[in-house]
Amino acid sequence: MPVLDQSPDIADIGTTLPPIFGRCPICSKHLSPRDRYTGKPKAPPIGQGALSRAKCDGCGGIIEYVGSGNWREFSG
Ligand SMILES: [Zn+2]
Repeated sequence: MPVLDQSPDIADIGTTLPPIFGRCPICSKHLSPRDRYTGKPKAPPIGQGALSRAKCDGCGGIIEYVGSGNWREFSG
């Protein structure tokens, strides 16, 4: 009997997130923001101060959503 050396369990890691949510501009981690009220995956609003910001759980940096899946580092 042949032995198969494959690991199908890890094939999809990193490829299942909607691209609209983008990546952290600091550490390039895939971001998965959630609505703070419903807990469902959702990008934050744009240009609404604290509501548009998030903390990256990869590097701990504060980042701000600027739309179209793009984020920028928040410094202020
Ligand atoms: Zn990060």
